Amino acid sequence: MEPWQRQLAAAIIDPAEIAARFGVDSKPLQEVTARYPFRITPHYLSLIEAPDDPIWRQCMPDPRELYDDRQNPDPLNEESLSPVPGLIHRYPDRVVLLVSNACAMYCRFCMRKRQVGCGCRKTDLASALAYIAVTPAIRDVTLSGGDPLLLPDDELADLLTRLRAISHVEMIRIGSRVPVTLPSRITPKLCRLLKRFHPLYVNTHFNHPRELTPQAAAACGRLADAGIPLGNQTVLLKGVNDDTSVMKRLVQGLLAIRVRPYYIHQIDLVRGTGHFRTSVRRGLEVMEGLRGHTSGLAIPYYVIDLPGGKGKVPLLPDNGEWRGDTLLLRNYLGECIEYEDLDSGS
Ligand SMILES: *Cc1c(COP(=O)(O)O)cnc(C)c1O
Ligand code: SF4
Repeated sequence: MEPWQRQLAAAIIDPAEIAARFGVDSKPLQEVTARYPFRITPHYLSLIEAPDDPIWRQCMPDPRELYDDRQNPDPLNEESLSPVPGLIHRYPDRVVLLVSNACAMYCRFCMRKRQVGCGCRKTDLASALAYIAVTPAIRDVTLSGGDPLLLPDDELADLLTRLRAISHVEMIRIGSRVPVTLPSRITPKLCRLLKRFHPLYVNTHFNHPRELTPQAAAACGRLADAGIPLGNQTVLLKGVNDDTSVMKRLVQGLLAIRVRPYYIHQIDLVRGTGHFRTSVRRGLEVMEGLRGHTSGLAIPYYVIDLPGGKGKVPLLPDNGEWRGDTLLLRNYLGECIEYEDLDSGS
């Protein structure tokens, strides 16, 4: 076994072990994990400082998960946008291929809570690859899951080889949270493997500055050294990162480890995650606190993934209005400046 596999084998799957350590009643937590799976790596566990802190909230079960019956298990309609099981084809030119049900840790707010960690989804890889091969419009394939980087190296290499053999697939993206939850997975050998399949992008998933550990930084450094452009997708989470100063430390910290913030997601309306919801108004305030106050490169798009699989829509703080032919624009200091919109004319 490689060290990362040992770390994964040492992952904790009974929250009672952790509850005992922090003097918390474990029974309500175990009721939750009877319905939604639990797993946490020793690395991520070491980041918890106290019950209910931003790390705890992301990984420890919460009884409210069970009482959230207003929301839908699959609000984005992924199942019906799947031409073959496990392949989501929503936009004409790009697809998401769900290659694994497993994650190093089961995030409590996961948008695929209905299926991660339960072995209940079967992706038919052969049919999915055949579909991509006969659909020339598909130029961009994202591997997701679950976590694609939990696949063993040889399976990953095989899958990437088969994708690369399809000439119209211009680029491959991998969405993975292992740089955060299991950084030892990013081995030099994995980086050499991934490097053979450029152009290949990795989007990782940091939600809080405390996740920016030296181990995570080293993992991202190894990927970046392999020439892999790194992006980050964050989910806006109540009590975790719905705060301008936390978000600013996160996005600045990401750039410092060579990861470009890409998206902040308004949390999807997924059943079992309602207690993480933050208003869109709050999200816009967080964005307002970033623009102009830190490097432009640190600023992600704040997006809502529309229900029904209608696509992602970026939202911006309201910072301009028309007065006739003049734009009245509000800058980061709150000053309103007139900008005359001149056209060179004919
Ligand atoms: C987010 C998403 C994509 C990729 O969207 P980008 O905006 O190109 O990053 C593709 N397909 C589905 C189903 C998605 O949810
Ligand atoms: S790593 Fe991603 S897919 Fe896995 S549980 Fe967390 S949010 Fe869900």
